[in-house]
Amino acid sequence: MQAEYNADVEAFRELEYPMLKDAIYLDHAGTTLHSKSFMEKFMTDMVSNLYGNPHSASPSSQLTTSRIEDIRHIVLQFFKADPDVYDVVFIANATAGIKLVMEAMRELDGGFNYIYHRDSHTSVVGVRESSANCRCLDDEGVENWLQGTRDTEESGGSSLATLFAYPAQSNLNGRRLPLSWIKRSKELATATSSAPYTLLDASALVSTSQLDLSDNDNAPDFTVLSFYKIFGFPDLGALIVRKQSGRILQARKYFGGGTVDVVVSVKEQWHELKGQSLHESLEDGTLPFHSIMALDSAMEVHKILYKSMDRIAKHTAFLAKRLHDGLASLRHANSEPVCVIHSAGFGSNITSERQGPVVAFNIRNSHGAWVSNVEFERLAAVRNFHIRSGGLCNPGGVATSLELEPWEIRRNFSSGFRCGVESDIYAGKITGILRASLGAMSTIGDVDAFVEFVKEFYAESISMPVPFELNPSEDSGKLYVESLTIYPIKSCGGFSIPPDTQWDVKPEGLAWDREWCLIHMGTGQALSQKRHPRMALIRPSVDLETGQLHISYNRDPSSMTEQISIPLSAHPAYCTSIQNQKCLSSRVCGDSIVAQTYNAEVSAFFSGILDVPCTLARFPAGGSGSGTRHSKAHMQKHQRQAKHSLQKETMPGAFPCPPTPPDSDSEVSRMPILLSNESPILVINRSSLDSLNSTINRSGGKSVAASVFRANVVLGSYGVDAPQPYAEDHWSSLRIGQQHFKMLGSCRRCHMICINQETANKDEEPFVTLARTRRFESKIFFGSHMCHIQQADGTKLSQCPTIKVGDSVTATTVED
Ligand SMILES: *Cc1c(COP(=O)(O)O)cnc(C)c1O
Repeated sequence: MQAEYNADVEAFRELEYPMLKDAIYLDHAGTTLHSKSFMEKFMTDMVSNLYGNPHSASPSSQLTTSRIEDIRHIVLQFFKADPDVYDVVFIANATAGIKLVMEAMRELDGGFNYIYHRDSHTSVVGVRESSANCRCLDDEGVENWLQGTRDTEESGGSSLATLFAYPAQSNLNGRRLPLSWIKRSKELATATSSAPYTLLDASALVSTSQLDLSDNDNAPDFTVLSFYKIFGFPDLGALIVRKQSGRILQARKYFGGGTVDVVVSVKEQWHELKGQSLHESLEDGTLPFHSIMALDSAMEVHKILYKSMDRIAKHTAFLAKRLHDGLASLRHANSEPVCVIHSAGFGSNITSERQGPVVAFNIRNSHGAWVSNVEFERLAAVRNFHIRSGGLCNPGGVATSLELEPWEIRRNFSSGFRCGVESDIYAGKITGILRASLGAMSTIGDVDAFVEFVKEFYAESISMPVPFELNPSEDSGKLYVESLTIYPIKSCGGFSIPPDTQWDVKPEGLAWDREWCLIHMGTGQALSQKRHPRMALIRPSVDLETGQLHISYNRDPSSMTEQISIPLSAHPAYCTSIQNQKCLSSRVCGDSIVAQTYNAEVSAFFSGILDVPCTLARFPAGGSGSGTRHSKAHMQKHQRQAKHSLQKETMPGAFPCPPTPPDSDSEVSRMPILLSNESPILVINRSSLDSLNSTINRSGGKSVAASVFRANVVLGSYGVDAPQPYAEDHWSSLRIGQQHFKMLGSCRRCHMICINQETANKDEEPFVTLARTRRFESKIFFGSHMCHIQQADGTKLSQCPTIKVGDSVTATTVED
C-alpha cells in the first residue's frame, strides 16, 4: 500500500505541485500545499459565476449565501459530524476560534477556570490571561484531575464554569493526546456543577488524519482548526461547536455586523442577536466568502487526488517512521548519536493513535555539544529543505523537551534571546527544536534525501580534528591590494575603486561605504539582499567630479538601464532642495537608527525595481549620540584556540573548542560603523578563496567570484609567496601602504553569499562547501573584519589617511 501510494504521489507531484520542483517541503504541521488542479478549479468557479457580497437580496448575493450554507454542510461531512449536533463557525484561523471561546467565557459571572495541557500551542496558552484561575497540567495532572483526586477547590473557583483545552496533536513533536479525555471530563459533572467545557485544538491533527466527530458521546464542545493545514489554501479556519454547548458563546459582549437582528443606538442602547443559528450570531462582519468558495474546491480536489484522509494518515505514518529511524541511526565516528529525538511515539509497532507524522529533534556534535538550529536551518535552506526551527509556538513542549527551567528561559530572555534571533545556545543549553513534518505529498525520496543531508553535514566521520602546523614565517607572503570595493547602499551592488585612486579611510570604514540603505516604508526595516536578491543589480557609483551618487539598474542585459542620481553632499543646503526630506527612524541589524529619507521620485525608482514599498535613506558619516552604531566584530574561538594551527581543509565541521575567557577586545568593539553589519572594513584573502574554489571544484561545483563575499578589500599575493589559505585567521594587524589596521575577528557568514552579484541568481555554493570546511561551533566563517588605526603623529598622511589598489600589504601574526 505504501509503495503504491508513493508511486501515485510521485506520478502527479510534478504536475500538481510545480513549486516543489527543487524543494523538499517538511514545514508546517501537515506540509500540505495547494495543488494545481485545485487552483484551476477555484479559478474556473470564480470566473464563471457572479458572487456578490452576502446579506442582500440580489441574485448574486443569494447565490453566495446559498453556496456558503452548502459548504458549511460539506465541512461537517468532512469531519463526520452530525449537523443536528454540530454547527460550523467560519473564522480567520484556529487562533481566532480560541479567542472567540475565550471572549465568551470571560463574560460569565465571576469568569471561568482554565485548565490547559502542557503541550498546548501558544494560542491556547494565551487564554489563561483572561481566566479567573488557571492551571497547566501534564498527563499525570490531567489523569488526577479526571479521577477527581485533585479538585478545583484549591484554585478557589469550584462554582465557576471550567474550560479544559488541549491539542489533539502537539504541533511541536507530533504526539497525539487521548481523545477519550473529552468523554471522561464530561463525567465530572455533579449535581451542583456542570461538566467542564472542552476545547479541542485539532489544528495539527487534521492535516494528516481524519478528525472523526461521529461519536456523539465523545463530542468536544469546541473544536478549532485551520484549513490551510489540510489543503494549503484557503487561509481560513473553523470553530466547530457542539450546539448544546453553543449558548455559552452568546455570553460574549461584542456584536459585529451580520450577527444581530436589531440594533438600537440612538437614545436607547439595545440589540437582539440573530437567533436562527449559532454561526449567524458569531460570524462578525462580512464572511471571507471567496475563501469559503475556495474551500469547496479544495475539499473536492483533495478527495480526487488523495481519496481519503485515512490513506494520507497511513502513508505519512510510514514515512515518519522511516525518517525517525533514519535520523536515530546516524552516528558520529566515535559512535555517539547525531540526533536527539523528541518525538517519542515511534515504537516498534507505531500506532497513529500516539504519534503524528512529525519528527522533532536536535543535533549534537561528536562531543555532545549542541549544533545551532539557526545554522542548521540556513544550510538546510541552501539545500532547499524547508523545515521549521525554534520555539515552534509551543512553550510547554519546548521547555519539557529541552529541560529548560523557567529561570533559564528568563535568563536567556535577559541576555538577548528572542523568537527569531541568531543565537540559540545559552550556557550549554539549546533553546529551540528542529521539526520535520510529513504530509500528503511527501515521498520516500524526500525522507531519504533529508536523512542523507543530515548525515553528510553533521555526522563527523573523523573522531578528532588533526591540526597541521603552520610555519609562522610563511604565513603572510607577499601581499598587495588586489581590489577595493565600497557598497554605498547597504545590500546593493558594489562600486570598484578605480586603480591608482587614493581612497579615504575613515574610522567607520572606507569613504562612502554603506552610507545609505533602502528601508521598507511600512516597517522601517532596512531591506536586505537575502530577501531581495535583485538588490545586487542596483549599482551605485560615486562621481566625485560632479558630486553625485549615480544609481543604475539593469534587470538583464537585454533590458534598458534605469538611472537616477542624488547629491553626495549631506549639506543642509542640498537637503532642502530635496523635497519632503524627513527624518525617519529605522532599524538596521537590530539597532535603531535615525536616517534622512528622500522624495517620492527616489522612492518610486527603488519601489519599482524591488516590488516593495521602499525608500532610500541616509545615515551620514561622523554621527554621534544614540543613533551611532558600533562594531560587533570580535575574535572568534577558532582563531584564539589554535594560534599556530589550522583546521585541515577537508574536515567536517562542528569542532568543539575549549572554553575561552570572555571577549577581551572591548576597546575595538566600540568602533563606530555606518550601516555595515558588523565592522568598519571587511577583508578577504585570495589564497583562501582559491583554496575554497578548488574544494568546490573537486566536488563538481562551479567556482565562485570574490564578489559574493562583498568584501571591501581583496588581498592578492605574488607568485610562490602566497600565504597559506586562512592565514588571515591568525593575523593581528595589517599594514596597507602607509596605513595600519587592526584585525577584529573572522566574519560569520549566512546564505547571502550564495547570491551571484552579477546576475542576482542563487546557488548553493559557496555556502555548502564552507559549511563542510569552515564551520566552527556550528558557525560558518570566511573573511575578516578590521578597522583603521589612526596615527596621531601630526603628518598629512595621518590627517587624511588613504589607501589604493596595488598598495603592498604586510601582515603581523598573533604572538604567543
Ligand atoms: C497551527 C496550529 C495552531 C495555530 O493555528 P493558526 O492557524 O495560526 O491560528 C494552533 N494549534 C496547533 C496545534 C497548531 O498546529
